[in-house]
Amino acid sequence: MGDLLAFEDALRLILERVEPLSSASIPLDEAAGRVLAEPAVAAVDLPPFASSAMDGFAVRASDTPGTLPIVARVAAGRPAPRALEPGEAMAIATGGVVPDGADAVVPIEIVNATGDRLEVPDPISAGANVRPRGGDVRAGDAMLEAGTRLGAIQVGALAAAGVAQPVCSRRPRVAVLTTGTELRAPGEPLGPGEIYESNGAILAAQLATAGAEVVRLAPVADDEQAHREAIARGLEADVLVTSGGVSVGQHDLVREVERELGVEEVFWRVAVKPGKPVSFGVRGRTLVFGLPGNPVSTLVTFELFVRPAVLALQGVSDPGPVFRIGKLAEARRRNAARDELVRARAVRDGDELRLEPLGGQESHMIVRAAGATALVFVPRGEGELPAGSAARYLEL
Ligand code: AMP
Ligand code: MG
Repeated sequence: MGDLLAFEDALRLILERVEPLSSASIPLDEAAGRVLAEPAVAAVDLPPFASSAMDGFAVRASDTPGTLPIVARVAAGRPAPRALEPGEAMAIATGGVVPDGADAVVPIEIVNATGDRLEVPDPISAGANVRPRGGDVRAGDAMLEAGTRLGAIQVGALAAAGVAQPVCSRRPRVAVLTTGTELRAPGEPLGPGEIYESNGAILAAQLATAGAEVVRLAPVADDEQAHREAIARGLEADVLVTSGGVSVGQHDLVREVERELGVEEVFWRVAVKPGKPVSFGVRGRTLVFGLPGNPVSTLVTFELFVRPAVLALQGVSDPGPVFRIGKLAEARRRNAARDELVRARAVRDGDELRLEPLGGQESHMIVRAAGATALVFVPRGEGELPAGSAARYLEL
């Protein structure tokens, strides 16, 4: 028990070995999911001019209440025709340029407009319904920090502030290699002793959401020469992720062949369940992960170790894993030696999230696991986590 590496220590050992990748300006259209390598700086004031927040009439607040001539109309996308003089009103659309001289917009709903005469029955305060120039951001201001992963809201902000070419980290190239003589591709007939290969599909899907460029190598049988050739190719990537072949069986060749090819092993075996035989090493700048072959072990160890590394390579400021808090629906006995990641369904219950462990928690049971939306972290130790207690979980 004492000699197994703790999860937190393993994660630290990995992140210590990560050297962020190079960066370049990229078109904004390709920036969703990418990570800023430099702070993004607003190219313009936003809004770029004082603009109306409502359809209505631009006025001087001090002229209200009152009856005013409507002297012009400000169309969207056009400058105001002239400055507003005292005692005048101009019709204006949402987003229109508030003319010089005006300091408020009276919404159309609270006035009476007949022909060119505007009647404003109540006083309006200065600044009402005017979006000041630069009220969202000022030109030259840093608007998003380096290390920010760009989602929909961030790419929208960059577009609005005129940032057409954000500087982003290169996407990590991640080679995926599954190992095992027993593996067949889905769709082929299964021979005796064979099973369908599922880890390649799992890892490719996980990597896609981590911003990686996936290089899928052909699966290899438990044969040294085949391992050597495939692993040598995989080591040309930024990250090599293998599945299977890291346990203690005589067909478990991955670590031995990696050592032969110059991989420095940083650790092997971590106090987690499932996934104990996970290995991690480096060769040059390439990070090398050996994930255990049972599909749920592959899935879990990816979330615990590989996803944070892939995000850290891109310079993400907090690479996770991101634990959230829910409420355990039923008591769960703790494993004395290993932190356990329990497959569960997260169910809304009022303001709380109830975590309902699924049946079939063995690490080969990928189909039973397929109903899970959460991995509940049950820390190693004595006793149990009682029903109703707060528990950390990873969202799947
Ligand atoms: P291993 O880690 O190679 O000892 O594999 C552990 C278990 O996972 C064995 O039952 C393997 O058949 C199974 N397994 C290994 N790789 C895969 C894979 N790519 N897809 C599905 N099952 C696998
Ligand atoms: Mg195997």
